[in-house]
Amino acid sequence: MDLQFFNTLSRRIETFEPSEPSSKKVGLYCCGPTVYDFAHIGNFRTFLFVDMVRRFLEFKGFEVNHVMNITDVDDKIIHGFNASPEKTSLRDYTAPYEKAFFEDFDQLNCLRPTSIPRATDYIPQMLELIGKLMENGIAYQTPDGSIFFSIQRYIALGGKYGQLVKINFDEIRVGERIKSDEYEKENVADFVLWKARVPSDGELFWPSPWGEGRPGWHIECSAMSRHILGKSFDIHLGGEDLAFPHHEDEIAQSEGSTLCKEGGCKPTPFVRYWLHFSHLLVEGKKMSKSLGNFYTVRDLFQKGYSGREVRYLLLSAHYRESFNFTLEGLNGARTALARLDECLFKLRELAGTAEPPGKQSALVQSFDDALSDDFNLSAGWAALFDWVRQTNKQIAEEKLSPADAAGLLADWARVDSVLAVCPQKKEEEEVPTEITDLLEARQAARKAKDFARSDAIRDELKSKGWVIEDTPKGPRLKRI
Ligand code: AMP
Ligand code: ZN
Repeated sequence: MDLQFFNTLSRRIETFEPSEPSSKKVGLYCCGPTVYDFAHIGNFRTFLFVDMVRRFLEFKGFEVNHVMNITDVDDKIIHGFNASPEKTSLRDYTAPYEKAFFEDFDQLNCLRPTSIPRATDYIPQMLELIGKLMENGIAYQTPDGSIFFSIQRYIALGGKYGQLVKINFDEIRVGERIKSDEYEKENVADFVLWKARVPSDGELFWPSPWGEGRPGWHIECSAMSRHILGKSFDIHLGGEDLAFPHHEDEIAQSEGSTLCKEGGCKPTPFVRYWLHFSHLLVEGKKMSKSLGNFYTVRDLFQKGYSGREVRYLLLSAHYRESFNFTLEGLNGARTALARLDECLFKLRELAGTAEPPGKQSALVQSFDDALSDDFNLSAGWAALFDWVRQTNKQIAEEKLSPADAAGLLADWARVDSVLAVCPQKKEEEEVPTEITDLLEARQAARKAKDFARSDAIRDELKSKGWVIEDTPKGPRLKRI
């Protein structure tokens, strides 16, 4: 089945066809983190969906050029930097947040993007783009030296504003301007491309042909995506809150730069498919820093949860449905993954060194069908847990040969190339020494036929969250 998904641009489900079908190359851009604080798990729900989309495209045989930017200059960063006691350099200020972001990103088993451009490394490209918009009269300078994008002029030259959201043009307030990086969704007005330097910026400014200042947030993504992926590319993704104004403004800037001064030119379409992910909620409200109702990935690690449990939970619901986060949900994720691990463990024991027979089970097909249908993850997980049930049954009935087991493991590996919840080696090996020492003591007690001691050790292990399973290959430690 061909991949289909909901394109925000057309507001309908469309079959995905890359712009270069013969080469199967896909250009994909996702707006990355703003590095002024630790990212919360709401942000990571979005990055996990991006990772799932990229992995599934690769599963389908596409070659993905995945670009994710780092926003390392914006209003919040400048404010944070200027309020920080040690103002060494902007990079020194953002580096710890960027590092923390990638530590969490890796723990959640997200694949590193092909390119990770930082906004501050692309100021010349931003100035070039603003220059193009000035040239064709779509951008204008205000008396304070800032440069704004004129929505009216853009429309007059043949541009379309309101591609991702329906806009009531009666509400466009001519001459009204928005200088802040963030503004209310209802507010349609000219937006800032270049912000003239003001005293509160401190030492954070760059030279430009229009005076010292710094870029607006929207121009950053237009310039970086254009430089790396070209004027036109396949897929742009992000959280639903970014559709307007951020993405709408990205379209206006990018397409506006391809219009001509005299009018009559057709704009080069910026992006062919837009994907927007619904938000993570906490008690019915968007998880956000401003509401203070958020968890970071490290908060959850401190509570004893693992990256794969968080990954499983955040990827359990459909990307177009908001999802209510709870700690009970994470406990449910732990139970579901333990069921999967148990099945995989038994399959590995059974398979030994056998080679897979080379034919695929129904799992890969049903998983492919589920995700090809608008990335229907819930149906994908359902197919997987059906497979676990059936496999367990077949193992119990001794119906599987080692080659069958090896085949099922190969199918699982294919599915897990997208889900990526298989315990990484590190996690498998990470049994604390205190626990392995107890296991050894228990073995010694059993050998000495001191069963009272061996039972006491088993109870102690249980109180620490571990059980011992005696298997034909010897005892095995398992988390409860
Ligand atoms: P930021 O670092 O604030 O620029 O956000 C990074 C990404 O996280 C953006 O794509 C946002 O749309 C997304 N995001 C922010 N809050 C949430 C949330 N509660 N649930 C899901 N995604 C979110
Ligand atoms: Zn962006």
